Amino acid sequence: MRKYKDIGLKLTPQRIAILDYLDGNRQHPTAEEIYRAVSKRFPTMSFATVYNTLETLRRRGSISELTIEQGKKRFDPDPSPHHHLMCMVCKQVHDIGRDFPLPLTEGERRGFDILATHVEFHGICPECRAAGTNARAVAG
Ligand code: ZN
Ligand code: MN
Repeated sequence: MRKYKDIGLKLTPQRIAILDYLDGNRQHPTAEEIYRAVSKRFPTMSFATVYNTLETLRRRGSISELTIEQGKKRFDPDPSPHHHLMCMVCKQVHDIGRDFPLPLTEGERRGFDILATHVEFHGICPECRAAGTNARAVAG
C-alpha cells in the first residue's frame, strides 16, 4: 500500500485508522471485519464511512477488492497482481505470488488483449481437514 500522503485523500483520523488497519494486513479482511476493528477506536464511525473509504481507496488503485468468497467483499492492501487460495470451511485466504501460464487460443481470446488474470484456488486447509471436514461436507 502506498503511504498516506501519496494516496491523495483528505486524511481524517477515521481514514488513517482504516489505512493503519490495512497496512501490511495479510488476512484479506472483509468490509465487516475492517469496520469491527476500526470502530474499536472510533465507536461513532458508521459502516457506510468505512465502506465508502474502502471504495475510494479501491478506485484510486491503493487497495484491491477480492470476490473470492461469495457474498463478501474482501480487501487486499497489496494491489499488485497475484492469485489467491481460500479454505472453503474457515475462509482463510492466502496469497499465491507466482505466475501461471494461461494460454488462450485465438478463438477463446475473441480478439481481446488480455491485461489481467486472477486464479482462485478453493480447498480445505490442514486445520479444517484435521477437524474432520472433508470435501463431501463442503460440497453438501
Ligand atoms: Zn480451514
Ligand atoms: Mn492477496
